[in-house]
Amino acid sequence: MMLTDLSAATAQHLVELKAVMNTSGSQHASDNICADCGAEVAQGKVGCLQIFEEILAREFSDYRYGKIHRLTVDAYSLQHPERYMRSGKSFAAHLTGMCAALEYEDTPALNRAVQKWLSTNPKIDKPARLPDKRGNLAITYIHSAADADEHTQRVREWARDVWSAWSEHHDLARSLVRKATTEIK
Ligand SMILES: [Zn+2]
Repeated sequence: MMLTDLSAATAQHLVELKAVMNTSGSQHASDNICADCGAEVAQGKVGCLQIFEEILAREFSDYRYGKIHRLTVDAYSLQHPERYMRSGKSFAAHLTGMCAALEYEDTPALNRAVQKWLSTNPKIDKPARLPDKRGNLAITYIHSAADADEHTQRVREWARDVWSAWSEHHDLARSLVRKATTEIK
């Protein structure tokens, strides 16, 4: 085989490898990619969850990190809906939490209204299809923040990225926020 053939073969191999990693079908190629959010992390989903737990621990133990805690949880949930948005209630809570944080001024008041509303067990129709691609940034981006300010800023950046990946459900999110605030006084 000539050298040029070899590099063509390598290039082809890389294309295939990339395809495998994107579909998460094969064993070893997808081992270091989280199939839910696309994070490049050792042990894929398991490693991704470990980083999330580390970040939660940091947010719980240091109020400077904790200020943005709710948004961290909502963004992570929107990237891992099979685990965190299984019920209609959890779906609505995380979707509206993200919407309230990024699109409204009175976020804590809205979150409280939604929480109250959800405790009345309203009927929530979860859409049949959720986005396959859920953003370009992942929890790994938050993990490497140098201090609390950078942490906060990166969580916001990550959340905006995830939120735009969910654009087909923005209207649904707004209508759930509206329902909660009109039904809960
Ligand atoms: Zn993940």
